[in-house]
Amino acid sequence: MGEDRGTAPRVLGRVVDDMTRCEHYRGETDIVALKFACCGEYYPCYRCHEEAADHPLARWREQDRQQSAVLCGACRSELSIDEYLRAGACPRCAALFNPNCRLHHDIYFDFPAEAS
Ligand SMILES: [Zn+2]
Ligand SMILES: [Zn+2]
Ligand SMILES: [Zn+2]
Repeated sequence: MGEDRGTAPRVLGRVVDDMTRCEHYRGETDIVALKFACCGEYYPCYRCHEEAADHPLARWREQDRQQSAVLCGACRSELSIDEYLRAGACPRCAALFNPNCRLHHDIYFDFPAEAS
């Protein structure tokens, strides 16, 4: 808590540890925070955003895929949306991401999930 993490972006919401787990999603692999298109702030999940933000969530569009909008809680690297959607694990530190996040794709992204 309050530890200086250098240039890593802040994460708002109900964060419960320093790997961006939150009160809603705190499993082994729930270590990703997402930046939201509406406010440009990182939250661990959409429910955190819903509770803490004073505005409706805006989703990323297909043309935003190269935006850095995903934070790996394990190594604090920012990934592009495209990198994140292609990877089952962090390309920097190899930490595994929760595959069930794909079930929530439509909450965060305004384009179809890829089958590939
Ligand atoms: Zn927002
Ligand atoms: Zn949450
Ligand atoms: Zn990482």
